[in-house]
Amino acid sequence: MIDLRSDTVTRPTQPMRAAMAAAEVGDDVYGEDPSVIALEERVAAMFGHEAALFTPTGSMANVLAVASVVSPGQEVLCEARAHIARAELGAHGAVSGLTMRTWSHPRGQIDLTALDDLFAPDLGMYFVRTAAISAENTHNFAGGAVLPLADLQALRAFADERQVAVHLDGARIWNAHVATGVPLASYGAVADVLAVCLSKGLGAPAGSLLVGGREAVLEARVRRKRLGGGMRQVGVLAAAGLYALDHHVDRLAEDHANARLLAEAVGLDPAVVDTNIVAFDCADAPALVARAREAGVLIGAVGARTVRLVTHLDVTPEQAAAAARVLGELVASQDA
Ligand SMILES: *Cc1c(COP(=O)(O)O)cnc(C)c1O
Repeated sequence: MIDLRSDTVTRPTQPMRAAMAAAEVGDDVYGEDPSVIALEERVAAMFGHEAALFTPTGSMANVLAVASVVSPGQEVLCEARAHIARAELGAHGAVSGLTMRTWSHPRGQIDLTALDDLFAPDLGMYFVRTAAISAENTHNFAGGAVLPLADLQALRAFADERQVAVHLDGARIWNAHVATGVPLASYGAVADVLAVCLSKGLGAPAGSLLVGGREAVLEARVRRKRLGGGMRQVGVLAAAGLYALDHHVDRLAEDHANARLLAEAVGLDPAVVDTNIVAFDCADAPALVARAREAGVLIGAVGARTVRLVTHLDVTPEQAAAAARVLGELVASQDA
């Protein structure tokens, strides 16, 4: 089976497992796990921030990150298909007591005109006020779209003028970095707080980080424990992350090339495929998913007529080519 459902399906490689087995560990709730400390310091420095916090999932990193800049009863603004709005099951409301309003963009991009309309200034104690704006780079449900650095910098200026924070959901910030050559620190500079994942394209079995200022990270450490996310000898997972940062960042370019190949095969303009996600419309998504499975290719339906293909570490160029042939034929026969 060639599995294109998600870049989360990767299994740790043998050398990654060896790094995990050899990891120095300690009790991370006591702040004594050297591998976790090394990972947190390294990732904070990569993004030009003071500190970072290892979390079991990207969802927890996002929940803690947004809560570090938005208080209960305040709101965060985000794009309508943002992961924080669609795929975190209401955690920001249910757990953090904050509200959300959204703007819509077909490619998940920042829209300052829409934001200007949405923005709620501080009108006193009886109104919800905007405390933060969230951006997702790359944008998952918009097909792995990159947010241009210039747009993020304009968002930073917009937020500064209004004295609100910027949260960046950077689950796939590594893909944006490799696709554009924009330094990670430049992405870090536009955000007060970021969430980044090791468990997507980087191929670690689990783990994400919240990245931000020292105080915000200290507060998030307490909240993480409150949520049951205080892990003990978790250096075994941090070691997988450190290994991934050494070996699995630059190779994302291969996933991007494979994604363009798949896009072409299904009749999509490869120019709209920025990174490792190919989302396209077809006559009947569940039917296409079923027929692809029969032909040995696993893909995902993300709407009645929309399917998603994701390339990753466990899909070789040969497998991508084979999947492209299968999907090209299936799409052509659906159209006919
Ligand atoms: C996957 C993902 C996350 C975090 O997901 P977890 O499964 O909780 O690790 C956050 N944001 C985006 C955009 C994602 O794609």
